[in-house]
Amino acid sequence: MIDSMSLIAVENPATGEILGEIVDFGPTGVDEAVAAARLAFDDGRWRNKPISQRVAVLDAVANLIERDSEDLTLLETLETGKTLKDACGGDVNGAAEAFRFFAAAMRNIAGRTIDVDGNFDVHTRREPFGVVGAIVPWNYPLCLAAWKLAPALACGNSIVLKPSELTPYTAMRLADLLEEVGLPEGVVQIVNGYGATTGEALARHSDVDKLSFTGSTATGRKLLIASAESNLKPVSLELGGKSANIVFKDANLKAAVRGALWGMFANQGQVCTAGSRLLVEASIHDEFLESLLRRVRALRVGDPREESTDLGSLISERQMRRVLDYIASGKSEGATLIQGGKRIGDKGFFLEPTVFTQVQPNIRIAQEEIFGPVLSVIPFDTEQQALEIANGTSYGLAAGIWTNDSHRAARMASQLKAGTVWINTYNEFDAACPFGGVKQSGFGRDLGLEAIDQFTTIKSIWTAR
Ligand code: NAD
Repeated sequence: MIDSMSLIAVENPATGEILGEIVDFGPTGVDEAVAAARLAFDDGRWRNKPISQRVAVLDAVANLIERDSEDLTLLETLETGKTLKDACGGDVNGAAEAFRFFAAAMRNIAGRTIDVDGNFDVHTRREPFGVVGAIVPWNYPLCLAAWKLAPALACGNSIVLKPSELTPYTAMRLADLLEEVGLPEGVVQIVNGYGATTGEALARHSDVDKLSFTGSTATGRKLLIASAESNLKPVSLELGGKSANIVFKDANLKAAVRGALWGMFANQGQVCTAGSRLLVEASIHDEFLESLLRRVRALRVGDPREESTDLGSLISERQMRRVLDYIASGKSEGATLIQGGKRIGDKGFFLEPTVFTQVQPNIRIAQEEIFGPVLSVIPFDTEQQALEIANGTSYGLAAGIWTNDSHRAARMASQLKAGTVWINTYNEFDAACPFGGVKQSGFGRDLGLEAIDQFTTIKSIWTAR
């Protein structure tokens, strides 16, 4: 029984149309979901299935995501306000790829044998935690749900997933697809609701064995406290970022302009890895900025359902206000607003792609995650200076380097404090490649074989000879 049956209206941010209502599960709903997931784990209905059958289930989910790609893409566009291009390329394809990869990776979940003194054979086993709680944000709802579900299931866990209250529908559809391919009942539970009610209840639940979170650094902090104050469940955190995209004068400038443009404005800048600090070597600064601005001014902002649209709506009025506040703070702290800065129209939450120049690295717009289409351009003179500016925030999610000097690229890549470094490219992802941050961008890795570390615990087994 759900608490007081409080309902949350879900809105299409681009139009204001109400898409439907979801129930805020609250603590009672979470209790029920966790109990069902626990039962499904304890009786082994999923983890004890022959591995070939488990591989087939995850593979089949990938097939169904591809089968339903058009519908899922549209649904993602409706609930997020993002463009069809982004919904398809970022969410739907990313989700299918994650299931495909973890179907195959399941065969690589292995322990090791260890030589020890004495007459013993020692080996380790990787075992599922049990019930995993997963909490995800609204910017890539389907993809990020898949990044949690696919590896957690591959490792044999049950999972209780809380989507963002703003974007619940594609995760719910994904749960339907899991049912359609024959995942045993109970293994996956979707709990809808607000962070403060449902999310908090999941994070504090003493029968949740592991928590995997993607979202803001502020919420990540609360989850560590929730774990500390409940059952000390291990927590993995994929948090925010303030990534530097660094352009040297010897770079292929055409490619770097493209990388700077999409590295910043994809998904309206609501990307954790957004290259929101563009560091440009002073000797090419003006020329580079001019070609970048030409491209920025050509971006089409509008109806996310139009194939030709480049930027859709921000997720909510609250997010738009937050971004506009940052724009005001950039101006008041002395940065030069050279492009954009305003809302477009009064329906939906569309913002002009915005560029500030002559940004001092220590001001708020260069330090804090804005999560909107606002680029700060910062000139630099030397490689050392670029490195200091790039590493000079509390975040460490990603960085980009544009140069044709491979020695410089190698030097920079090894010294940048970031979980991912892209050289002469930006925002590339693959389910085979681990993804996560350092510093206050979090810890633990999604994707890659490394994700198996996040969703398994290790048991050492000693056998006397
Ligand atoms: P958020 O932290 O506000 O919310 C994320 C999720 O946590 C939502 O489901 C929300 O309901 C829930 N939540 C909020 N408060 C909670 C609480 N007290 N207890 C439990 N759950 C709670 O973040 P957001 O605004 O939805 O998403 C944007 C943030 O996500 C940005 O900071 C972005 O950088 C980050 N993000 C990180 C990655 C990554 O992989 N590193 C990817 C995407 C987004």
